[in-house]
Amino acid sequence: MRDHIDGTDEERRLNILVAGGAGFIGSHLCDALLGQGHRVVCLDSFLTGSRANLEPLRNHPDFSLIEQDVCTPVDPGIQLDRVYNLACPASPPRYQADPVHTMMTCISGTGNLMRLAGEHGARFLQASTSEVYGDPERHPQQEDYWGNVNCTGPRACYDEGKRAAEALCFDWLRAGKGDVRVARIFNTYGPRMQPDDGRIVSNFLVQALRGEPLTVYGAGDQTRSFCFVTDLVAGLMALMEVNPNPGQPVNLGNPGEFTVIELARMVQELTAASSPIVHRPLPTDDPRRRRPDIGRAAELLNWAPRVPLAEGLRETAAWFALTLGRDLPQAPA
Ligand code: NAD
Ligand code: UDP
Repeated sequence: MRDHIDGTDEERRLNILVAGGAGFIGSHLCDALLGQGHRVVCLDSFLTGSRANLEPLRNHPDFSLIEQDVCTPVDPGIQLDRVYNLACPASPPRYQADPVHTMMTCISGTGNLMRLAGEHGARFLQASTSEVYGDPERHPQQEDYWGNVNCTGPRACYDEGKRAAEALCFDWLRAGKGDVRVARIFNTYGPRMQPDDGRIVSNFLVQALRGEPLTVYGAGDQTRSFCFVTDLVAGLMALMEVNPNPGQPVNLGNPGEFTVIELARMVQELTAASSPIVHRPLPTDDPRRRRPDIGRAAELLNWAPRVPLAEGLRETAAWFALTLGRDLPQAPA
């Protein structure tokens, strides 16, 4: 359904490539872009994405799918106006499963798509990450902070890969080769996360719904800031379309900050789960805290997240309950 572009306004219909469009965030982005009346080509290797995420779009006349790795040359088949690069596993166990491929996806994949965007005169948006700040010594994180990243640890394939991808983007921009925008995405959650993805929100919700213990890594006093996926997608689209200053990376995330234990308790309450909390070893180089300063996004994009964690968690829990065929207690009136 179109909510933005009038059907007669062909000029404003854009041809948009979404790399990583079968993934959690990418599939919501495809939905939103199609909802605005654009044509969407999704490129995905299904490394961590799923066909189920694209099921609602399968017969959409303006949607097409290219199944391939982003590291190999891409032929979109149409003249492109926009390229979103979300192709990269985002969950630590997933991106660490084949770290060399993760690094190559970040560097070679980003380079490939940026060249493609250049050839088409298309605007390019890179999905970067709060991981570029590593284990931050400044809090909250502003975009001018250079970060504290271990370049030899198990997270480096992702953190340093994304940093290298950002370097590519800004070199490309300085060389005047195209219009490039960089979103630094903080922890995002919502429906369509894979149940076995390994990230905290999907793990806790799936564990609670299955009546299994909630696995808290370390003492659980590390913090994260959780953004609901629809808010994040709105931020990405605003950054692509309205950012008047493309030379700067922009943090996108929800500044509400929660400890891991607090999140576990919220999930227990929401699911009325009898699941106990069990502690597991803290992964190497796990950042101790994370919270975005979103002043730049507010100023440049007039963007701020709207969905509070309790509300987004409820929606995500309902989706997982449906997907897993489990019951979720009704929220109190
Ligand atoms: P996801 O794993 O659900 O989606 C990634 C998609 O990219 C999947 O569909 C996967 O199959 C595809 N992909 C991976 N490597 C590929 C390759 N080499 N070639 C083609 N396709 C490939 O992850 P997500 O949470 O939707 O994240 C999307 C993007 O946003 C990623 O680039 C990630 O780094 C970034 N990001 C996400 C978060 C978050 O909290 N979700 C935070 C920061 C950054
Ligand atoms: N975490 C946890 N239990 C889990 C999964 C993750 O305690 O089952 C912790 C993890 O150690 C980290 C935080 O939750 O401190 C967020 O982890 P996630 O993998 O979701 O994202 P990250 O921000 O680390 O990339």
